[in-house]
Amino acid sequence: MHQDIEKVLIDEEVIKKRLDVLAQKVMLDFEGKPMVVVALLKGAVLFMADLLRRVPLPMEIECLNVASYHGGTESSGVVSFLDNTMPDVDGRSVLLLDDILDTGRTLDAVMKKLREHGAAEVKTCVLLAKDIPRDEVLAADYTGFVIGDEFVVGYGLDYRGRYRNLPYVGLLKESAIG
Ligand code: 5GP
Ligand code: MG
Repeated sequence: MHQDIEKVLIDEEVIKKRLDVLAQKVMLDFEGKPMVVVALLKGAVLFMADLLRRVPLPMEIECLNVASYHGGTESSGVVSFLDNTMPDVDGRSVLLLDDILDTGRTLDAVMKKLREHGAAEVKTCVLLAKDIPRDEVLAADYTGFVIGDEFVVGYGLDYRGRYRNLPYVGLLKESAIG
C-alpha cells in the first residue's frame, strides 16, 4: 500500500468484478444504438479503460476536459469546460462516464451541454457515488459503488494531481493533506 494511504476502501479485484456487472448493464441498454462514450478528464480515465474493454459494442470514445474541484478537497460548485470543442453527439446515444458523483453538478452541467448538442439520449455512469442527500434527477444511471461522504483518491481520482495511478480507491492519511 502507498505510504500516504490510510485505508483501502475498494481493492482492485472488487473493482474488476463490479465492472463486469456494469458492462453487462451497459451492453443491454446500448446494443443496436449509435453509441458515443464521453469520459470526463482526467478522473474517469482508468475507469473508462477498464470498463470499455468489457463492452464489445461498436462505439466512439471521446473525452471532455471539465473541472469542478480546482485542486482542493471540497467541491467548488462551479463547473468549467476547459476546452471549447464538443464531440459530435447529434442524434446519438451517449454514455457519459465520470469517476465520482458528489453534488452531481458536474454530470448535470455536462448532460445539459450534450443535449444542447443534439444527443438523442444521455446515460450517466460513475465508478463511485457519495451517499449524500441529492436531488433524484442528479442520480447516475449506473453506479459502481456507493461510498460515505469522504474524500477518496486512487483509480483515477487525485489529490492535487497525485494518486490517480493507484489501482484501488482509498483514504489519504491526515499527514498527506495540507
Ligand atoms: P460533483 O460535481 O458531483 O460535486 O463533483 C464531481 C467531481 O468532483 C468529480 O468528477 C471529481 O473530480 C471531484 N470529486 C468529488 N468527490 C471527490 C473525492 O472524494 N475525491 C476526489 N479526488 N475527487 C472528488
Ligand atoms: Mg472529475
